[in-house]
Amino acid sequence: MFDSILIIDDTDAVREQIEQTLSNVSLFARYHHATDGIEGFKTLLRVPVDLILCDLEMPRMDGFKFLSMLRTRDELRDIPVIMLTGREDRELKIRGLEQGASDYVTKPFDPGELVARVKVQMKIKSLQDELKKSNELLKELSNTDPLTRLYNRRYLMEALEREFQRSSRKQGPLSLVLLDIDHFKKINDTYGHQEGDVVLAAVAEMAQAGLRRYDIAARYGGEEFILLLPETPLQEAIAVADRLRESIQEMEFPPPLENLTVTISLGVSTYPSQRIDCIDSLIRQADEALYRAKQNGRNRMEIMAA
Ligand code: GH3
Ligand code: MG
Ligand code: MG
Ligand code: MG
Repeated sequence: MFDSILIIDDTDAVREQIEQTLSNVSLFARYHHATDGIEGFKTLLRVPVDLILCDLEMPRMDGFKFLSMLRTRDELRDIPVIMLTGREDRELKIRGLEQGASDYVTKPFDPGELVARVKVQMKIKSLQDELKKSNELLKELSNTDPLTRLYNRRYLMEALEREFQRSSRKQGPLSLVLLDIDHFKKINDTYGHQEGDVVLAAVAEMAQAGLRRYDIAARYGGEEFILLLPETPLQEAIAVADRLRESIQEMEFPPPLENLTVTISLGVSTYPSQRIDCIDSLIRQADEALYRAKQNGRNRMEIMAA
C-alpha cells in the first residue's frame, strides 16, 4: 500500500466518490482533500503526498495554475498528477499533459479505469524512487575511497576547486593539511599488506574524527591524506594538524599489531598567502612543508614558508 494521495476538486461528491473507489481496493493509507489549487498547494507544503488527482476547472486556482506552481518546487516536481477533466475536451487534456500532468481521467469516471490508472502511476513512481536511490548510492560510491571510506582524490579536487573560489571571493582563509604515514613500507613489510590496510583505515578514521562540519578529509594517494579546512586560518590549522599527529602516535591496534606505533608527518599551507595563487600552489606549499617534516625527523609538522 502507498502512503497518501491528495484529491483536488471543487465538487465534494467527486472527491468522496474517488476516495470511496480507491479505499475499496486499499490503495492508500491517507486521503487528503482540497477544493482548489491554492488549498491543494498548501496541503503539499504540510504533508508528504505520493500522488495527486487534480480537477482542471476550479474557482480561484485552476488545475493549470496548480501544475505550474508544482513545477517551481524541487521537492514537489516529481509527484505524479492525474488530471480530472469534466468533459471530452482534447485541447484541455493535451495542454495538461504538456504542462506536466502524467495522465488524465474523464469524469464521470469508471471505477476500474481510475484504479488501473492510479496503479500505473504508482508503479512508475516507485521505479523512479528506486532509480533515484541507486543514483544517490552510485554518486556516493564515486566520491568515496572504498578502503578508508574517506572522500577520494576526485572528490577532493572538486571540493578544492569550490573552496578555493569561495575563499578568493570572500577573502576568507582556506587551510590544507597534507599528511603521510611514516615508514609505511616497513609496516607492510613486517606485517603484510592486509595489516597495512588495517593501519590505513585506522589512520583515516582518526583523521576524520577530529574534523568539523565543513572540513573534508580525503585519501590523496596510497598512504597520503589531505584535510581541507575552509574558513580556517593558519594558526587553527596548525592546532588541528598537531592534535591529529599526537592522537595518531597514541593509537593502539589489535593483534598482531599490538606492539606497533604509527606516526605521521604533516605539512600545512593556508590561502591567501604571497606564495599561493592557485590550487596547485596551495598543495605544493603543503607538500614542500611535508618534505621538510620528513627531512627533520618525521612524526612532526612543518608550516609552509612565509
Ligand atoms: P616515508 O616515511 O618517507 O613516507 O616512508 P614510506 O615507507 O611511508 O614511504 P613510501 O612512499 O616509500 O611508501 C609508501 C608505501 O605505501 C608504498 C606502498 O606499497 C604502500 N601503499 C600504498 N597504497 C597502499 C594500500 O592501499 N595498502 C597498503 N597496505 N599499502 C599501500
Ligand atoms: Mg471543477
Ligand atoms: Mg607517501
Ligand atoms: Mg609514507
